[in-house]
Amino acid sequence: MDERRSVSVFGSTGSIGESTFDLLMRQGGPRAYRTVALTGGRNVARLAEMARALQAELAVTAHEDCLRPLQAALAGSGVEVAAGAQALAEAADRPAGWVMSAIVGAAGLVPGFRALAHGGTLALANKESLVTAGPLLMETARKAKARILPVDSEHSAIFQSLLSEEMTSVERVILTASGGAFRDWPVERLVAATVAEASTHPNWAMGQRITIDSASMFNKALELIETREFFGIDPDRIEVLVHPESLVHALVAFCDGGMIGHLGAPDMRHAIGYALNWPDRTPLPVARLDLARVGSLTFRAPDPLRYPALALARQVMDKGGLAGAVFNAAKEAALDAFIEGQICFTDMAGVVETVLEDFSGRTGFGPALAPLEAVLAADSEARARARSVAERTGDKRWKSRA
Ligand code: NAD
Ligand code: MG
Repeated sequence: MDERRSVSVFGSTGSIGESTFDLLMRQGGPRAYRTVALTGGRNVARLAEMARALQAELAVTAHEDCLRPLQAALAGSGVEVAAGAQALAEAADRPAGWVMSAIVGAAGLVPGFRALAHGGTLALANKESLVTAGPLLMETARKAKARILPVDSEHSAIFQSLLSEEMTSVERVILTASGGAFRDWPVERLVAATVAEASTHPNWAMGQRITIDSASMFNKALELIETREFFGIDPDRIEVLVHPESLVHALVAFCDGGMIGHLGAPDMRHAIGYALNWPDRTPLPVARLDLARVGSLTFRAPDPLRYPALALARQVMDKGGLAGAVFNAAKEAALDAFIEGQICFTDMAGVVETVLEDFSGRTGFGPALAPLEAVLAADSEARARARSVAERTGDKRWKSRA
């Protein structure tokens, strides 16, 4: 009998995917794991390399036009190959005991839901799943007796700080934020921030989209909602603190006035490894903190003018229902528009705010548990709306400069 743990990795060629692959290989590779499916995008050479190394049963690229190159790269390997969104969803239908959800954006939603249906463990890096469809995701997991383990560093930190604690004794949860690339820029300069400047992170090495979202704090905005959905904590008890050193990942404040926090080097392999080995702890290849050398840890309240995304997240949590799906889709479209040079860095929040306002009077927008089809429909409608708002915003900018 095959006694290896079965695993799948969605988004295996990304930043989280690479770290997951690294840990799977270090922890025994194909001797220890039966890899059911690996998925990626256009980097078929890397996907093929990983599939060979883990002797995966299936490798899927999200893009149909990458099917042939992937087939060529895996010729003779015995790895089955497929392409396209449907193939991704079908890959998630193949049961695996541990599934990493690390596709970036709302594209990770369907594979995550489909994987949950089998029970087992979903290691959730794709925070967008909780932001867009949190209540439904948690309910799907409950029904399927599946377990979701958080992989976002802050949420893994909260999860670990809550081990053997009662939620009723939690007073507040504090998410830390590095403050991103523009933490120390004068606010007036932000309008001229370039994509390259926004794509550097002071402490973490991550994918480009989440790095820019860290500079704007849209990432922290998503994480506020993620915290609310995953831990079921009221929004007014979730706080954000700027912590430039990125060594304390989150803190939980209890009713007796004590706080428990989680510290570690800024390396996602900690949170991924914790989710992979849970409930055990296993030695992980992450740097050990030398606090004497670190010397001091600093914290400050986030400036609302510099980070308008945080207030938008609070509006979204107040609304509930489809507001998260609209927020995330508008944010993704605004981010695309910034990356493409259509709008300025500081325009992103305005685009998202306009789209949220447009949707706020809609029936069904409010607090009900929306089915997945409604979430996906809200996502595509909000995305289209955000694209046209971004276009208008961009036109105005160029006219005012001409
Ligand atoms: P990334 O851009 O490095 O990688 C994304 C992966 O998803 C790649 O494998 C890519 O091929 C795939 N992908 C992209 N678009 C796709 C699509 N339309 N359909 C199918 N696959 C697609 O992203 P990342 O930084 O690894 O982030 C992945 C997820 O993890 C995001 O939800 C992010 O918010 C979350 N996260 C990342 C970090 C980090 O340190 N990178 C930390 C916390 C949470
Ligand atoms: Mg995070």
